[in-house]
Amino acid sequence: MAKLEGKIAVVTGGSSGIGLAAAKKFVEEGAYVFIVGRRQSELDKAKAEIGRNVTAVQADVANLDDLDRLYSIVKDQKGAVDIVVASAGFVERKLTQDATSAHFDKTFGINARGVYFTVQKALPLLRKGGSVVLVSSGLHLKGLPEHSTYAATKAAVRSFARTWAMELKDRGIRVNTLSPGAIDTPIIDSQFKSKEEADGARAFFSSITPLGRIGRPEEMAAAVLYLASDDSSYSTGIDLVADGGITQV
Ligand code: NAP
Repeated sequence: MAKLEGKIAVVTGGSSGIGLAAAKKFVEEGAYVFIVGRRQSELDKAKAEIGRNVTAVQADVANLDDLDRLYSIVKDQKGAVDIVVASAGFVERKLTQDATSAHFDKTFGINARGVYFTVQKALPLLRKGGSVVLVSSGLHLKGLPEHSTYAATKAAVRSFARTWAMELKDRGIRVNTLSPGAIDTPIIDSQFKSKEEADGARAFFSSITPLGRIGRPEEMAAAVLYLASDDSSYSTGIDLVADGGITQV
């Protein structure tokens, strides 16, 4: 029996990496998905890859008008939402001494404020039995240089899940975070000037991960599916760490 039969899901960042892998998995499990991202080209590719039961919505999660438009499209097409996955996010590596206020505002604007309003604006449409999955990062547990703002946004996201788990429990809605370790997606390439440098980072993270490799987006999709589906029916407010052990041992 499919795990998400008849469910309606919104997946921000659903055009790439972890979000795309989750959206694919959701459709395989019987859901209809709305994928969200800024680049239309990536949305078109992702939509073709998912193949069916998908609507692509071009929107920036840092822009509240875009979020209003997203949910009005969802409302018009389906009338309700069962699952929200907030996976849209980005990393800009900066030593604290070099960070500008623009860097700070952009990182918090997308990774923290974007998640906050993605969920707030879904609330009128979220049905009883719903599940909210916030993609945090194992880095919220660490002190990795050049990631002060990024890690802090992910700590904020982890905190949102605790409060929202309480605020939404009486509506039968569960809220959890997923904290991935290093996962092989374009977000790694986006942080480096060349493929060689990015591959160097992949090798470095593999070497410091107890399981000896970085993770695959499909492994994160399995974890997102667990949190989104009734398989995790007794979990709310948790942080599911799926990181090859890097933050845990
Ligand atoms: P990715 O492949 O680069 O995907 C990021 C997705 O977010 C893309 O679809 C991107 O599309 C979208 N996005 C970024 N900014 C957006 C915005 N302002 N509005 C709407 N969509 C936006 O990276 P990923 O690895 O899948 O990352 C997904 C999440 O996992 C992120 O929150 C990231 O912080 C977290 N994470 C990743 C790793 C890892 O190692 N990969 C580890 C821990 C946590 P557009 O650029 O077209 O908007």
